Parts: sequence; C-alpha cells; structure tokens
Amino acid sequence: MITGDQYRERIARLKPNVYMGGKLTDRFDPRLVGGVNVMAATYDFAFDPELEGVAVATSHLTGEKINRFTQIHRSVDDLLNKQKMTRLYCQEVGGCIQRCMGIDALNGVSVVAYEADRKYGSKYNENFINFMKRVQKEDLSLNCAQTDAKGNRPWRPHEQKDPDLYLRVVEKKADGIIVNGAKAHNSCSTYVDEIVAIPTRNMTAEEPDWAVAFAVPSDWEGVTLINAAYSPNKRKKLTAPFNTYGIGHSITVFDHVFIPWERVFLCGETELAGKLALLFALFHRHSYTGCKAAVSEIFTGATALAAEYNGIARAQHVRHKLADMIQVVDLIYAAGIAAGVNATKADSGTYIPDTNYCNAGRMLAGEAIYKEFESLAAIAGGLVATLPPEEDFYDEKTGPYLHKYIMRNPDIPAEHQHRAFRLFQDMMASAWGGHKLIDYLHGGGSPVIEKVAIYRDHNMEHSKNIVKKLGGIPFEGSTKKIDRESHAWL
Ligand SMILES: Cc1cc2nc3c(=O)[nH]c(=O)nc-3n(C[C@H](O)[C@H](O)[C@H](O)COP(=O)(O)OP(=O)(O)OC[C@H]3O[C@@H](n4cnc5c(N)ncnc54)[C@H](O)[C@@H]3O)c2cc1C
Repeated sequence: MITGDQYRERIARLKPNVYMGGKLTDRFDPRLVGGVNVMAATYDFAFDPELEGVAVATSHLTGEKINRFTQIHRSVDDLLNKQKMTRLYCQEVGGCIQRCMGIDALNGVSVVAYEADRKYGSKYNENFINFMKRVQKEDLSLNCAQTDAKGNRPWRPHEQKDPDLYLRVVEKKADGIIVNGAKAHNSCSTYVDEIVAIPTRNMTAEEPDWAVAFAVPSDWEGVTLINAAYSPNKRKKLTAPFNTYGIGHSITVFDHVFIPWERVFLCGETELAGKLALLFALFHRHSYTGCKAAVSEIFTGATALAAEYNGIARAQHVRHKLADMIQVVDLIYAAGIAAGVNATKADSGTYIPDTNYCNAGRMLAGEAIYKEFESLAAIAGGLVATLPPEEDFYDEKTGPYLHKYIMRNPDIPAEHQHRAFRLFQDMMASAWGGHKLIDYLHGGGSPVIEKVAIYRDHNMEHSKNIVKKLGGIPFEGSTKKIDRESHAWL
C-alpha cells in the first residue's frame, strides 16, 4: 500500500495529455487539484487507525494486505465492508470518493474473463490476474471508461452513421489490437494511473468490434483527455475541508490506440459484452448504496444544522422533513446491505451483489436527491443564494455589518453561522452544486435504467400468483416462498 503523497509523486510523472479550456495542462492544474486530493485521501485512509477493518483488505491472489480499493470481492463480508468504506470515505470528503469506479469495473471483468476463457480457451483471465496483481502490489488508482459517446440514442453501435461513436476495434495484430473512438463522462481519468475500458451495453452478433475491454495507463500513446473540472468555490480566509476537494470528468479519446494483447480482457465475444456492462453497473450501484447514503446524510445533517441555526429546530414541519430524509439514508444503505447478504458466488469466485436490491437502492437515491436539495433550500432560506462574497465579511466597513445581521439563533457565534451558510451555498447555489444535481441523478446509471432492470428482474408471475390465490383463481407453483430472480440474467 502507498500513501497519498506517493500517489501524487507517481501521477506527477504521467506524460501531459490533459486538455482544459483550450490548453494542454498538467495534472496539478489548480482546477484538478481538488480531484487529486480526493484520490490521495483514499490512500491515506488506509493508514488511519480509526478506519482499520474497512480500509484494508486481504488479496485472494497473494494473501497480502491491500488497499480495499484494489480488492476483488470474495465474500459477503467483502461486499459489506466495501459499502461501509465507501460511505465513511464519502462522508469525509463531502461527496464522491471516485476510486470505486475502476475496481467496480475490474470486479465485473473478474467474472467475465473467467467465463470467456472457459468457453473459448482465451487468455483474458490470465491477463486479468496478472494485471490485478500489479494493481494490488503497486496500489494503482483506476477509472472506468464505460459510457460511449453513443451518437443517435435509438441506433445500435453498428447502425450509427459514424461507427466510432462507440469505441471499437479497428485492427487485430499479432501483438495487440488497435481501438478507435471515445468514452464520455469519465470521472477521475486525468488523475488515475490506469483507465479501464469496458462495453457500455449488450452487443449483437453483428457487433464483435464493439465488444472490447482493456486497461491502459492514463497517459498512453494516442489517448487524449478533454476534461471538465469542478470544485466548491475556493476560499481565502474561511478555509474548510469541503473546499479542498473536487472532481474532473473527461471525454477520453482513443485515436487509433494500440493495446497489447496482455492488456485485453475481452475482444469480440459479443454475448459477454452485455454481461460485463451489467456487472460493472451492478457493482457500481452497490457502491452507490454506500456513497449516496453518505450524501443523503450530509444533506440531512445540513438541513438539521440550518434549522438549528435559524432557531426553528423544534418546528413540526422541520422534523417531518428530517424524518423523511433519515428514512431515505437508511433505506439506501439497507438496500446495499441486503444486496451484499443476498450475493451470488460466480464461477470465478467473485461475489456478485443482488441485482434487485442494488437497483432499488440506486433508484431511490437518484430520485430522492432533488427532494434533498429542496429540503435544505426550504429550511435554510434565501441566504443560501444571496450570501455576500467572503471578502465582505472581512472588510473593515462591511464586515461588522455582515456579522451583526447574519445572526439568527443567538446561541450560535456569527462565524459559525457564516460558515454554515457558506457551505450550503457551495453545496447548492454554485457551479459545484449545479454539477452535482446532474451527477447524483445520472452517475452510476440514470433512475430510468434502474427501473428497466427492476422490472426485468422481478418475478411478476409470482406476485400475480399471490393475488390469484387470495382471489381463488387457479395458478401454478407455490406462493410459500419469497421468490425472486435477481441473477437470472447472469
Ligand atoms: C457526473 C457524472 C459522472 C460520470 N462518471 C462516469 C464514469 O466515470 N465512467 C463512465 O463510464 N460513465 C460515467 N458517467 C456516465 C453515466 O453513467 C451516464 O451519464 C448515464 O449512464 C446516462 O447516460 P447518458 O449521459 O449518455 O444519457 P443518455 O443515455 O443520453 O440518456 C438521456 C435520456 O435519453 C434516454 N434514452 C437513452 N437511450 C434511449 C433509447 N434508445 N430510447 C429511448 N430513450 C433513450 C434515457 O433514458 C435518458 O432519459 C457519469 C455521468 C455523470 C453525470
């Protein structure tokens, strides 16, 4: 395991291939530092005695202690600890911990590469195991490049006017493959060691070129990262932990990129592409039951703090709102626990969380987020939007006025009130807050996608049989069991 500083030193050695605002920039550009700080925290947490038990895991490949963000889940406990770790870390950094995506992708690869080798005698699993050993030994940070540009949505990859709108193999050579295309919305790609690319959807028999998965360093020849970066507003005097973090997302362009065979995990096996896409989504939605529980708890705490500082903590409408919010936190987290407890062991030995519970938790999270913004906005009041700039609180003339008139609950010092409302402003009335509104809805898959999966995986015949029985209508089978088909698609 390495520390945050060792991670920073390694990232500093990557070749420049990040573009922002029309310029080639380096990975420590001030707009990217917030993201780097989040990633570095995932390394330092592994040495925090308070996080012992969740932050460190054991490698099933070498038996050595590893950062849990490099683990393939081999038990129910592994899944539960991953979820708990994600929640605790997200609480610490005030949002997305970012490092989950890459390892969620590799957990998916662990299942599919094993299956491909058994079916086709390929070498993907050997490639994967070798890569995984390096990830664990060197404590590599990874992103997941899944979402394709996708072009015209109703058209399949092979139907697009431009075939590169889904990343594809354009040439197979003796020593590797050449891929061309782009992946979109790639979080943390600019400050990770390696990019893990996997398919975004199922592929049909006409689409072997698009059924491709591999890993390459983030500064690999031919890879260009066109990045958008977000951070809470920079502070001058009123420094706070929340404002030291941030995130970046890139369009990751692969311009005729050579991938050596030993880095390829899937190439042409169309029937496994969709499975890999779904497996990543599933592992990632399980991570979401940790991270989104943290985000919802932050909104709950912020709403409670706003009520206390405004002197309205005892009002009944405030308590009702808070009870609703607590319920969401608990249900999202409970869905993840249920998904872990009801996991299925794949032939590869990887534990796969329950589909229905993961999707239910992620969907609830995606849909509740606007309500959470609304609750905090409602209880905090208009100051969240109209708070004067930080400098005015320290100006000789305006500072005393602002500290006098920001006062609400007389038991709370003016600076604490200022701090709280400055944080609420960062969370909601800022570029960061606006970006988060979209992130929390679509990141990890939009709620509409979870609805499709929830409907697909529920055994509706069983539900109807329960009703038929109650109504005295004949049916086949037994209703005296809790019948679910969570992993029928596996
Ligand atoms: C902040 C953020 C971070 C992200 N990080 C990552 C990351 O690190 N790696 C990664 O791979 N992805 C990442 N994503 C991508 C995320 O998974 C996608 O945004 C999500 O899956 C939705 O895809 P989309 O944005 O292309 O939207 P679209 O698929 O374009 O969806 C837009 C709308 O069109 C509808 N639609 C789409 N196709 C059809 C169709 N055929 N018929 C009818 N309706 C359709 C959808 O239901 C939706 O309502 C991130 C996204 C965000 C916002």
